[in-house]
Amino acid sequence: MTSSMTFQPVLERIAEDIGRMPDRGRPAGYIPALAACDPARFGMAVAEPDGTVYGVGEWRTPFSAQSVTKVFTLALDLAREGDALWEHVGREPSGNPFNSLVQLEYEGGIPRNPFINAGALVVTDRLHTRTGDAAAELLTFLRTESGNPGLAFDLDVAASEDAHGDRNAALAHFMASYGNIASPVPVLLDQYFRQCSVAASCADLALATGFLARHGVRADGSRLLSRSQAKQVNAVMLTCGTYDAAGDFAYRVGLPGKSGVGGGIIAVVPGRCTLCVWGPGLDERGNSVSGVAALDRFTTLTGLSVF
Ligand code: GLU
Repeated sequence: MTSSMTFQPVLERIAEDIGRMPDRGRPAGYIPALAACDPARFGMAVAEPDGTVYGVGEWRTPFSAQSVTKVFTLALDLAREGDALWEHVGREPSGNPFNSLVQLEYEGGIPRNPFINAGALVVTDRLHTRTGDAAAELLTFLRTESGNPGLAFDLDVAASEDAHGDRNAALAHFMASYGNIASPVPVLLDQYFRQCSVAASCADLALATGFLARHGVRADGSRLLSRSQAKQVNAVMLTCGTYDAAGDFAYRVGLPGKSGVGGGIIAVVPGRCTLCVWGPGLDERGNSVSGVAALDRFTTLTGLSVF
């Protein structure tokens, strides 16, 4: 594919293919506010480093970003504290479900990576300690990078998660007992649930991910991450970004990606473009069925992958 080629025809073709898929999974059942979402819904956007965006389907419809936000809080904290972060959270795949408690005890309260819930709680806690309001920091970043000042938390989704948040509370308390959480746990959970509740569209999230295609440079040309840090974030996305199916995602798609239980997935072609796809039906590991299929088709049709 040449650099002058528009992505629009590829997106149209992918949407047709997705439209023929017989089974597109089930929406996340454990967050009641998400459970009613129709798995047939679908949107996809591609953003180029200069901010040009292409889209298909419901690419401008806001959905619940959920764990996709973990990429942005990781980048925002890494930009502030650098490598010291890695003393508090690892960067290896966990091989366990995203909300698992088992590894934490025998690994001394240090979560395997920033994208499982335990690791994201640590990152949000550290960002919160540094900024005084991690969720607001995230929202400001997303609004600026997407150019959409209307982005907001969905407080119904946050409240719904809070009401069913025993497992995240358990993770946070457990890590606090190891001294790996600085904030009071209720404060941290409030921050984390609001962070996850951000409602954003494929266009918003593809644009907001642009700094990872620009090797750490923000939309306005200022630098958020060093080139090396941007590589690190992309690498952790590739190895840990799609729950305990990151191996299969790398095999099928061949790009750094991060999924969320709202059915969104962001992906990066370093130096070339960023993508966001949304389909609320999930597979048994928590990844969007139509989302993974669409990204698989994208890299197959365009030849754009990191391999
Ligand atoms: N807010 C969700 C949770 O903590 C995020 C899960 C996800 O998207 O992976 O369970």
